[in-house]
Amino acid sequence: MKSVSMIDKYRDIVGDEEVDELYLLANKLEGKSVQHINSTAVGGGVAEILSHIVPLMKELGVEARWDVIKGDERFFSITKSIHNALHGSDVQISEEDLKYFLEINRWNAQELDLSGDILFIHDPQPIPLIEQSDSRGERWIWRCHIDLSRPAERIMDFLRGFIEQYDVSVFSAPSFARKDLTIEQVLISPSIDPLSSKNMELPEETINSVLERYGIDRERPVVTQVSRFDRLKDPFGVIEVYRKVKEHIDCQLVLAGGGAADDPEGPAILEQIRAAAETDPDIHVIYNPPDIEINALQRGSTVILQKSLGEGFGLTVTEALWKGKPVIASAVGGIPLQIRHRQTGILTHSIEGTVHYLRILLNQPRYASKLGECGREHVRNNFLITRHIKDYLGLFIHLYH
Ligand code: UDP
Repeated sequence: MKSVSMIDKYRDIVGDEEVDELYLLANKLEGKSVQHINSTAVGGGVAEILSHIVPLMKELGVEARWDVIKGDERFFSITKSIHNALHGSDVQISEEDLKYFLEINRWNAQELDLSGDILFIHDPQPIPLIEQSDSRGERWIWRCHIDLSRPAERIMDFLRGFIEQYDVSVFSAPSFARKDLTIEQVLISPSIDPLSSKNMELPEETINSVLERYGIDRERPVVTQVSRFDRLKDPFGVIEVYRKVKEHIDCQLVLAGGGAADDPEGPAILEQIRAAAETDPDIHVIYNPPDIEINALQRGSTVILQKSLGEGFGLTVTEALWKGKPVIASAVGGIPLQIRHRQTGILTHSIEGTVHYLRILLNQPRYASKLGECGREHVRNNFLITRHIKDYLGLFIHLYH
């Protein structure tokens, strides 16, 4: 009996046509290899996507691989500052720091075997690898997962020198792209994998047992934010929202998240959150839960929050919507692409707005569940991994024509 490949398992979710098209596109790429490079193998949205897309591309017959650049604490603290500056923060990055950033990238270039036909570079950390571009005819893609609409201009100018050497750049949302870049810009939104342990259906007993293990009471409303412990995710704002709502409704708060290997700020933020939550037994700070537990926590929640101050795409929103959950999230980064206000979720701009809508959703479960249902269909139509692979394959083919 012919075994069903992993890709074929998506037929029930997205339909035969979508899956057949993937095979057709992959065929056209025969003989071309794709090499993804980013700065962390675990933690955050980029690693999450790559860990699912790369194996599926291989199953489709594409020669795909994924390498991660290395660096020390200083390097990652510089790249985190660059990240924050691109999100508009007023951070100081010295000339020495930028020199060090280049030096470590050049060292990585020697360590890595950059022999792919398509070099697919993710985010700013490995962006200087383009210096290694040579005349063998390979194609270079810079995949930007960050909102570049309001960056600190000095850093943007520094990066522009590299970006414009690429053959093409890819952004997650129309508002992220830059009118002043001279190279081609393509829009491809990220995605989630509906069959991964983070997103697959779970039996009710699994959800119950995970919540029970963390001492979360399913008889009372559960409000959850899943995120890296990062200031931009506004965990302190989330606690303030919860405290205001708690004056009226006896709810619980779950803040679940871990760190990323390329994010040195996480541990300090986690400590501050723990201190802020210490006196309230209804605030559950859960550090680095495995994917299946994130899945259960999202599914066992009454409402999901994503109160980010700045965001790339916001995959945690996609994950929650796919689970049919009502989501209240800030109108930043890629979140408005996912949430149409009062149709597929709620968009807010402040603590007060979030408090207002959280009270409404906790008091009106039928309205909340209608939002969740519409959110799930919106994700099915736009933000599943099959669509994402189709867009990438289309881009690769375009680069060779
Ligand atoms: N995530 C995780 N464990 C955590 C916190 C986050 O696996 O402890 C995952 C989360 O489920 C999502 C991704 O990391 O898939 C975060 O992506 P997002 O776009 O929301 O934010 P980023 O961290 O990239 O800024």
